[in-house]
Amino acid sequence: MTFGKYTSKSFKWLVENDVGYCKYIVDRHMKEMRHPEKRKTINETQGWHKSWEAEDSGLPKQDIKWLKEDEERGLFLKPRPFSDMYGRKRWRKVLKSEKMWFHPPEMPGVVDGSTVPVADSFFRHRVFFWRPVGVWRYSVRCTKPDCPAKDNPKAFLYRCGYGNTVRPICDINGWYFMLTEVLACDACRHLTLYYSLIFPHLNYCNIVWASTHPTYINKLLIIQKRFLRMISHANRYEPSAPLFINYSLLSINKINIFKTCLFMFKFKNYIQNLPSSFHNFFCVNSNIHSYATTKYFNLPFCRTWKHQSFITYRGPHLWNSLNKSLKSSPSLPIFKKHLKNFLIISSL
Ligand SMILES: [Zn+2]
Repeated sequence: MTFGKYTSKSFKWLVENDVGYCKYIVDRHMKEMRHPEKRKTINETQGWHKSWEAEDSGLPKQDIKWLKEDEERGLFLKPRPFSDMYGRKRWRKVLKSEKMWFHPPEMPGVVDGSTVPVADSFFRHRVFFWRPVGVWRYSVRCTKPDCPAKDNPKAFLYRCGYGNTVRPICDINGWYFMLTEVLACDACRHLTLYYSLIFPHLNYCNIVWASTHPTYINKLLIIQKRFLRMISHANRYEPSAPLFINYSLLSINKINIFKTCLFMFKFKNYIQNLPSSFHNFFCVNSNIHSYATTKYFNLPFCRTWKHQSFITYRGPHLWNSLNKSLKSSPSLPIFKKHLKNFLIISSL
């Protein structure tokens, strides 16, 4: 075989291993012989969205044809050949990269009788393709206030496809339609990857299992740090603490502290929302003795390390060690926000 996905394999090998592929090649060859005019069809129009052709929210019907097919006025350059992943020669159209305004072909002038113009040519619109990076090569920075790359002077947005929304704009001369390119931030996209691939595994029921012995937790912590170095393009010897602060993330140990403190806050302020089995889980100091103390919860006596890792001990211990301002937060969302900010910068 000199082409396709089984290049360099013998015909005998192909018959023995993938007869279906043989049948596909023969069928395709026969189809091409039957319809030779279809052999050089345009397989791709790079960047064109199907949603731009939607009847209710897309471009007007009379504008679609000239935008896709007119080589002088439309969005695309002349078709170019390329090889796909199977080594097959295909044809595609690439977007023009030197202009953003596209004006429709002029209306027909003299009609000689042989070609009667269609009414569509009188109702076409201008199209503005807003591409500040694709055409102007402009350096745009991420606008998110919590972007991890906000302090990096070399971090700019890059092109990430084109928006599927067509916006009709009313200008002083009439209507035109606007298409836009989509810009993406490398650091923010990597953070999304972390929250979709890694964080759910560390977060799920963390309060139940993550207070176990550090021997077991450290293995997960190493993986978390490795992923963080991967998404921040740091080398393997770079310290992870600044990366956690830069990305505003909590390590697996801090996630456990966060969850435990959250549970204690709910126990103290919203005990009616917890299941009844938790109502006598912790003992309050004011129920045991009458003298004033800064420690709200009573610490049970624990002799072994294993017992100290139970939430009945860890919960009161962590709560008693929190700042007074944190403990007196007026609501759960405010407590969560302040506690997370405190844990991110603290060196626990
Ligand atoms: Zn960003």
